[in-house]
Amino acid sequence: METLVALCKRRGFIFQSSEIYGGINGFFDYGPLGAELKKNIRDCWWDDMVRRRDDIVGIETSIIMHPKVWEASGHVAGFTDPLVDCKASKQRYRADQLFFSPVVVDGNTIGYVSALESERTAEALQEAAETLKRKKSVQGKLEPVQPRDMTEAKAEEIVLIPSPATGEPGSLTAPRSFNMMFQTNVGAMTDASSVAYLRPETAQGMFADFKNVVDTGRVKLPFGIAQIGKSFRNEITPRNFIFRSREFEQMEMEYFIHEDADWAACHRQWINWCKDWLLSIGLPASHLSEFDHPKEKLAFYSRGTTDIMFHYPFGVQELWGIAARGAYDLGQHEKASGVPQVIFDETTKKRFIPHVIEPAVGVDRIFLAILCAGYAEEEVKDDKGNVEKRTVLRLSPRIAPVKVAVFPLLKNKPELVARAQALHKKLQRRYAVFYDESGAIGRRYRRQDEIGTPWCVTIDFETIEKDGSFTLRERDSMQQRRIQEPELLALLDEQVY
Ligand code: ATP
Repeated sequence: METLVALCKRRGFIFQSSEIYGGINGFFDYGPLGAELKKNIRDCWWDDMVRRRDDIVGIETSIIMHPKVWEASGHVAGFTDPLVDCKASKQRYRADQLFFSPVVVDGNTIGYVSALESERTAEALQEAAETLKRKKSVQGKLEPVQPRDMTEAKAEEIVLIPSPATGEPGSLTAPRSFNMMFQTNVGAMTDASSVAYLRPETAQGMFADFKNVVDTGRVKLPFGIAQIGKSFRNEITPRNFIFRSREFEQMEMEYFIHEDADWAACHRQWINWCKDWLLSIGLPASHLSEFDHPKEKLAFYSRGTTDIMFHYPFGVQELWGIAARGAYDLGQHEKASGVPQVIFDETTKKRFIPHVIEPAVGVDRIFLAILCAGYAEEEVKDDKGNVEKRTVLRLSPRIAPVKVAVFPLLKNKPELVARAQALHKKLQRRYAVFYDESGAIGRRYRRQDEIGTPWCVTIDFETIEKDGSFTLRERDSMQQRRIQEPELLALLDEQVY
């Protein structure tokens, strides 16, 4: 992760927000290459999800909505994470990410240890237990630790569990619910009547506008409403770079189906669609898996939720959640607003609230997955046969921030420069391209490899003096071949879609 974070900064993918003031935890900026890559992820999703389908329409709703939306949706009462405070250090922890265990020697508990959730939580607790045993000079057999998280701690245990910040027990509080919505006030008054929230998800925009879309959009069941936009969550512990931040972007789609439809089949179809889409933008199947939420942990209205998981360097984590939510959301808004959220069934002549399947994914999490899967360091031979290291981002042409880099072989030959610039200008009308004339060709290739540019073309004397062909160099194989301009355009047309 550290290497990747360093690359992101060095090449202008991602910066810490407000870095000149020391940064602000949980917020990030996307630099010139990052903004392109992110836009490509959004555009691919929008094209495949909305434009290339006849059953889905796209909308864009406001970030601040009527506060009653969030009462009806259950967010005001229930969009909480369990929070534990350390009174000594003023640190805050998510209770379900703070683990502890009694330290038991020969059947006697000699104290407690704690560790923050990581890839090796159990090992960290075991090491801490051994240290505690040594420190207390207790003889006997240390039993294996039994990790539990703080939501499972009994009141009498909480006072004995050491804070991860100080290593001392006695300062941790019992878990309490912390609402993750950011609050603000609308208008000049800052009292209870003006409280509003930054949306914690984009989904409610689709539900609140359901009637508007049905009345104006000529949609027929089954159909979907999709949107891409910023969401905000006051996460207790933002972490793992852009994986969990406080301001992030979501791509969500609500697929409305008949109340009698086979929801399980539809749910499965959407899980498959989402997986195929991730493959289409270059994520390897080997890094993807599915996790079915256990029935007993689902919200009462939920029929089932499956997450598509991605193997990040810090563990296998949720990338995309696909939830079967029944008629809950529209039903809640119907109750709270008094406005019927129904569809009329021509065959049965019945009105009913449609059910919904919701695939919800974070753009930033896809961004990170793409970088993690695409990053490689390799040993390669240069023109003279010397072995050197190259860093390469194997990004799909669909989402690579730069599609083609155009080089004149030499920068002091006006005829080469003019031809290269002309090609650059022409390609620029449709694609993100980059012109580079400085340094040896090998160095220019390396710079492009590091930012994931799939192809480089070099204009040389043969281009000018012979048949107009130029060298196409392919990023992954590093193979070079001569091609003509129409061939390059056809290649781009086929691979960048
Ligand atoms: P988690 O369990 O990781 O907190 P969640 O189940 O609360 O996620 P959802 O409410 O289902 O997430 O949101 C849908 C998607 O939005 C997630 O699958 C994820 O890709 C993205 N997402 C949610 N929270 C964040 C965040 N804090 N930062 C970045 N992306 C997020």
